[in-house]
Amino acid sequence: MRSMRWSVIALTAFLMLFSLSARPAVAGDGQIVSVAKRDFTAARLGRMGLDLLMEENGRVYIVASPGEMAALARLRVAYAIETGRFLRTGTQGLAAAGGINGAYHSTLELETDLRILERDHPGLASVRAIGETLEKRPIYALKISDHVLEDEGEPAALFVGCHHAREWISVEVPFLFGKYLLENYELSPEVRALVDSSEIWIVPIVNPDGLEYSIHVYRYWRKNRRANADGTYGVDINRNYGYAWGLDDIGSSGSPGSDVYRGTGPFSEPETAAIRDLFTAHDFRAMISFHSFAQDILSPWGFTTEPAPGDAELNAVAAAMAGLIAGVRGTAYSYGQGSRLLYLTNGDMVDWTYSLGGAPSYTIEVSPVDVDRGGFFNDESAIATIFEDNLPAMLYLTRYAIDHPLAARRLPPARRDRDGRSLVRKPKLAGPAAPGPAR
Ligand SMILES: [Zn+2]
Repeated sequence: MRSMRWSVIALTAFLMLFSLSARPAVAGDGQIVSVAKRDFTAARLGRMGLDLLMEENGRVYIVASPGEMAALARLRVAYAIETGRFLRTGTQGLAAAGGINGAYHSTLELETDLRILERDHPGLASVRAIGETLEKRPIYALKISDHVLEDEGEPAALFVGCHHAREWISVEVPFLFGKYLLENYELSPEVRALVDSSEIWIVPIVNPDGLEYSIHVYRYWRKNRRANADGTYGVDINRNYGYAWGLDDIGSSGSPGSDVYRGTGPFSEPETAAIRDLFTAHDFRAMISFHSFAQDILSPWGFTTEPAPGDAELNAVAAAMAGLIAGVRGTAYSYGQGSRLLYLTNGDMVDWTYSLGGAPSYTIEVSPVDVDRGGFFNDESAIATIFEDNLPAMLYLTRYAIDHPLAARRLPPARRDRDGRSLVRKPKLAGPAAPGPAR
């Protein structure tokens, strides 16, 4: 469990978000509340699927919807509303935003930049709309390969970002990877060899509706913008994939107002359906889903603390990536099974992709390591360094995909069943989920 302390950075970050969400907004009307850690444990609040923010001085901080606050009251858990504490701390955070979203991509800015890459690198880069969101925004993928317009059936690797709207940095890392590959194709024999013998697919913004909402309305928004039946908004699309979906209310929530609401069924959301259709149409042998924050490389399973079949290989690849990241400038990323290193999840992307054929699948929670150093609100100047930290790991995983056909590491048959409910066991739980970044 990660212990976190306040800092000016965190305070200004919250100032930013609450100044943006001051109006009694649609579904962005959460409050930061704190409860005593002992109450949190005694009332088994870890089972409520809450959006846990951090733990400090014996109190657990939660971003709670009105419904969740009512639930706390019903459970007779005393909570303190902490939102005002952050509003009174000054206004210095606002200038740091650098315009609305500064150097970070909006959905339109991303489309523009992807089209420029496509124009400048004909034959190597192709922009495809792989789906359309509820608000009719295209979900774009950048395919990079030699003879890019042909389907050569080459080994494929997938890099995606921005399942979670507020994790802006997660857009930039996969986007910059694509840009790097294209701009270094002629210069680097290593890059050329990768591009010539694989298909590299990059989806920088899986959740464009959520990202736009985070930019323009509520900086802390996490989910997509599904209008739920009870009047709340949003499905956590990283709880909406079809493996072990809805297994329990610990790794996701069945309550629509929750920030980890899993949706009405597996792949009920256009964003996850788009990823499903892409992933099953190509020979994907490895993938990374970028999130923030924590500096963690998380491998399957998320739904259970029992080890995944093939976990030795998963761990070896994660260890190699962590070593490569540390080799750049010494940034330490932890690695391990997601359910053990962070907390339980069900219906997340890596469990689903891994369940299909055992392709090494990772959630990478990029920098910073904790809320002290900015949490979800990375400084623009960190974009380049975070990308550079992760670049060797992405190159390594792409090479790994080329060299390791899936057939060589097939999962035991039961695990390949796509109906997760029929085969998974209830995880044994030691206690409430650890507060921390909600991947
Ligand atoms: Zn996330």
